[in-house]
Amino acid sequence: MTIALALGENQEQDSGGDGAAFPARGVGLDAVLGSIGDGITAQRADGSLAYANDAAARLLGLESGDELLGLSGVELMQRFLVIGEDRELLPADKLPNRRAIASGRPEEGLVGYRLLPDGEERWSFVRSTPIVSTEGAVEHVINVIQDVTSERAAHERARLVDETGAVFAASIDIEATFDALAELLVPRFADYCIVDMVDDGRLRQVAISHRTPEREQLLRELRERYPPGANPAHPVSEVLSTGEPYLVEDARVEALSHAAVDEEHLALYRRLEAMSYIVVPLEARGRMLGTISLGTGESGRRFGELDLALAIELARRAALAIDNALLFGAAQQSYAQLDTLLVSAPVGIGFWDRDLRFVRVNDALATINGIPPEEHVGRDLADVVGELGPVLVPLYRRVLETGEPVVHTESTDDAALQMGERRHWLSSYYPVRTPDGEVIGIGAVIMEITDRKRADDRLRLLAEAGELFSTSLDQDEIASRIAHVGVPRLADTCNIFLLRDGVLARVACVSADPEVQPLLESLPTTFALAGDSGRIARVFQASEPLLLRSLPEEYLDELERFGADRPTFERIGTRSLMLVPIVARGQTLGILTLGSRLPERFDEHDLDLAQELAGRAGVAMDNARLVEELRRRAQSAQALEFVGDGVFLVGRDGVVLLWNPAAARITGLPEERIVGSPASDALLGWPLGQGERPQTFPVDAPHGELWLSLTAAEFPHGTVYAFRDLTEERAVEQLKSDFVSTVSHELRTPLAAIYGAAMTLQRSDVELNDVQEAGMLGVISGESERLARIVNDILLASRLDSGAATVEISRTDAGELARGVLAAAEAHLPADVELVLSVPERGPQVAADPDGLRQVLVNLVENAVKYSPNGGRVEVELEPTDGRVRFAVRDRGLGIPASEHERIFEKFFRLDPNLSRGVGGTGLGLYISREIVRRMGGRIRVESEPGRGSTFSFELPLA
Ligand code: ADP
Repeated sequence: MTIALALGENQEQDSGGDGAAFPARGVGLDAVLGSIGDGITAQRADGSLAYANDAAARLLGLESGDELLGLSGVELMQRFLVIGEDRELLPADKLPNRRAIASGRPEEGLVGYRLLPDGEERWSFVRSTPIVSTEGAVEHVINVIQDVTSERAAHERARLVDETGAVFAASIDIEATFDALAELLVPRFADYCIVDMVDDGRLRQVAISHRTPEREQLLRELRERYPPGANPAHPVSEVLSTGEPYLVEDARVEALSHAAVDEEHLALYRRLEAMSYIVVPLEARGRMLGTISLGTGESGRRFGELDLALAIELARRAALAIDNALLFGAAQQSYAQLDTLLVSAPVGIGFWDRDLRFVRVNDALATINGIPPEEHVGRDLADVVGELGPVLVPLYRRVLETGEPVVHTESTDDAALQMGERRHWLSSYYPVRTPDGEVIGIGAVIMEITDRKRADDRLRLLAEAGELFSTSLDQDEIASRIAHVGVPRLADTCNIFLLRDGVLARVACVSADPEVQPLLESLPTTFALAGDSGRIARVFQASEPLLLRSLPEEYLDELERFGADRPTFERIGTRSLMLVPIVARGQTLGILTLGSRLPERFDEHDLDLAQELAGRAGVAMDNARLVEELRRRAQSAQALEFVGDGVFLVGRDGVVLLWNPAAARITGLPEERIVGSPASDALLGWPLGQGERPQTFPVDAPHGELWLSLTAAEFPHGTVYAFRDLTEERAVEQLKSDFVSTVSHELRTPLAAIYGAAMTLQRSDVELNDVQEAGMLGVISGESERLARIVNDILLASRLDSGAATVEISRTDAGELARGVLAAAEAHLPADVELVLSVPERGPQVAADPDGLRQVLVNLVENAVKYSPNGGRVEVELEPTDGRVRFAVRDRGLGIPASEHERIFEKFFRLDPNLSRGVGGTGLGLYISREIVRRMGGRIRVESEPGRGSTFSFELPLA
């Protein structure tokens, strides 16, 4: 159904209500038209309204069609403004109804109404159909007015949302984006727009826009003077703190005073003529980024809930876009950092495309390649890397083909070797892929490891040297080993000079080139240290290394002075040299020279290494010396084990440090009892610390008294003592003095008697009768005999000693012999002594030397008589027992203490005069007796007790 209505847009004259009644009324159509939703009006050709239904009236904010019809044109004008699609006032002739009247054809179009005074916008789609008379004149226009406000708003919102999306997508520059957003929203959605962002906790206005420049200026001023951040009551502050959007539909009423700080602020607001506004939060991923403020004023529009919803949606998108932009910014920044890192990384980094053309290299890689970074771009890999091409190109190809990285390959730049140094690289190559995995190129990380390599080499060299040196204990051998470690790895030639007899003498000399070896050997082998000593000697004397990067002419002059042949040296070709002292424990032992045929071959690193090497050699040589010394000492110590003299050391603290085996043997004191003990306890009574003159002293040893002679000598850690056993020597000495005193005494007595008797006989003044004369002669002969016996005894003892005296064993009648001895003894027997012989009837016959046996019996009987000063019985007994005859001489005399039973048989030994009552004697009788009995195969023994007499006995075999 087509129902036409017209909207009287301009009724200058009163239409007069029912002046020209619209025919529909009459036919009851009125009720029908009044009840439909679309507005319907009918206009006369002059534009005045002939009919309007209620819906049409409602479009203009009126209650009913009649009310609308009742309004004059002026009244109607005050109620709304007609605007076009562009929101600008629409001239009357552009309206569809006017166009229909003018053209006589149906016209249609979109018409907006801004209702006054609120500014609310309504949009209608108007279709105007002219009703033409039969004469062809337009009589009426029927306008059908479809309210499309909400559709249009929805459309508008959709467009806005779309367009803002495009704005955000267009740029990642936040400020530019907000400027564009403000541009988009003003004036289409709002009369002004302000975007505030929270930046480091502070509010920053990032965009501001107003539909009119004057108002924008005012807005800026307002914002400047009353910044929202400083005012917690400001809507922006409120939204930021609550996170809730803020809508003031009618800003004219209360909101202004609420937000205003003071009167002036309020005045500024008023001048702005704000009508309504919205503040929405910019919130993304839980973070409050800022706010968007939107306001209406002069347009007369007012924001409602729908606008708020739109604003929220826009803000949501904006916030997301900002956040993305921020993230992108951060990514950008980190990308920039990465780029800086790439450029300034100390390792070479490069990228190549699939054709192995340089895409990008950093400074480090450019330095390695020797051309500026930018000159790499676009060039072929092979073109840039030169000699490494044949190695690298296949490797890169493989990475591209397999998509597998190659990590940590080492390469060596041999080209650089000519410069005297080999350079080393450690590289990794990896494929560069797009996010979907396609390999689009290759990346490489290249690290120069020359220093590390060098450090490794040094360590290896030193470790090897240490091992080599430690296994030798010979200085020359160590020197030769150093030379071989140094050549050829460190140098072409190496010499070692060591201090020997005041000069530096060459002990090792090695060349890497066998042809050079004899030339090197022909150079001077010694360098004097005195006088004009030259660099080699000076390095030694100062103990400071010397690095000659290039060999100065003077060095050759110097060598020449020391006898080197200049052409020979030139043929060796040394161009750079290191002279390093070999030092150990602060003492310079010699020097090490390392030479190279390359000039500038050595730098400080090499000098360090050479010093290190020399240091290790020094330690090894010093060790060798120490070990040698230790070995010598050990030999000395071993010698002490074997010396016959007792040797012991007493430390400064008085403790015995050493006690040699001889000391233990002589004294019977084991090492473990002495060593470690204080000498004053362990060697109590020893004359320790009494100077260096020998001290002779007795000590009690487990097997009797010892006479020791002790000498002392100080040594740095104490005193060394040596002693020897003088017991024997001392006994001999004793013997000698015993002999002298005994014999001289024993000889003097008979000599004096003989002398006296002889003198008496010679006297002419004394008349001696025969008896007297015979007595004198008797004295002389008796004493002479005694003298002869003493002398005989001495001679016999001496012969027995020397082994000259022998016995002749024969069958001897022992009874016979004993009877003879006793008979002789009877001759001068003291009166109170009784001699008793007890022998078998016959014999017995023994195997003996008769003279010897007689001598023994005489001695024993004489002693028995002599040492029985109080008289008493002396018994001589011969008793055959079991193939032998036991001879015994028993007296009841003085007796002998048990302690002396052994010693009485020693030469010259005589009991103390107290025990022997001063009875004379030589002390030889028992010694001679023992020796003779022993020679006849017997053994003489004594049983005796002081005061109870003695029995001397021996046995001889029966003949
Ligand atoms: P002497 O010439 O002193 O008798 P001997 O060698 O015969 O030398 O004896 C050594 C010592 O032994 C004597 O000096 C004496 O002291 C002691 N002696 C030897 N025979 C006896 C004895 N029958 N009774 C006590 N003492 C004796």
